[in-house]
Parts: sequence; structure tokens; C-alpha cells
Amino acid sequence: MSLHDVFLLPADPQLSPDAATNARLRDRLAHEPLAARLLHHDHVQFFDCGEGFESVACPRCHAEIALEWWGETMDRDHDGAGFALAPHAMPCCGHGAALNHLVYRIKQGFGRFAITYPDPGGQPDPHLLADLAGILGCRLIVVHRHL
Ligand SMILES: [Zn+2]
Repeated sequence: MSLHDVFLLPADPQLSPDAATNARLRDRLAHEPLAARLLHHDHVQFFDCGEGFESVACPRCHAEIALEWWGETMDRDHDGAGFALAPHAMPCCGHGAALNHLVYRIKQGFGRFAITYPDPGGQPDPHLLADLAGILGCRLIVVHRHL
């Protein structure tokens, strides 16, 4: 782990690629000078953005959510091993939304699987993202973590 890392997360937080898919991901990543690693977890983990975190908002009415409420809900949703990502009534409008569907600035995400590499700066190559998403069969969320 370095101070600045990129995490590529499947938009489906439960997605856990099988051995054949892992091999295809590794083959594709071998063409990149990224020193990428594949992270596998049995339970859904939170991938935070570190010091860049600004705010979290409701996905329906876009009201900013108090960080105190968000922190308590993160605790409540976590069973000690991972996140349930159960629907929670938003404090603003009562809309039921799971933690992974909130609007995070800067981007953060949840998942059982991630591709990570030291951040070379800038945004990931869109061709690489498209290839990896194609192999996984799932759109990817890009999280930049700066500690
Ligand atoms: Zn709302």
C-alpha cells in the first residue's frame, strides 16, 4: 500500500469473480505498468477516499447528509465482518437507500472485490477500464484514496 492508491470496484458490491475471470483480469493487467493487485474479501468492505472526503448526499433529493448520521448508519449496517448494504430511510426525505447508493464526494465505494494499484496520477485509461469492465461483466467505480 502506498499513500496514493487507485481502487477499481465493480458497481455490483457482491460481485466476486471466479478463478477464470481472475486469470483474464491478470492477463489484461499484465499489459499495464501499474503493479496492480486483485483484492478478494468474503464480506463487503468499504473503500474510502482518505483525506479527500468532502460530503455525502441523498440519491433521491440530493440533500447533503449529516456526517454524524452517516457514521452511525455505517456502524449499524456493519455486522462485524462486512456491510449488509440494507436500505436505510434517508434523514432528509425518508427515501430508502443502501449505503452504496448514496452520492459520495469524493467517490467512495463498497465491494467484495477490487483491483488496486499505486496511483500514477490522473484518471485511469478509459480503454483499460472498458476492458476490465467487459471481463467482469460489470461497470467499474474508480476510487482514488489519498492518505
Ligand atoms: Zn433525500
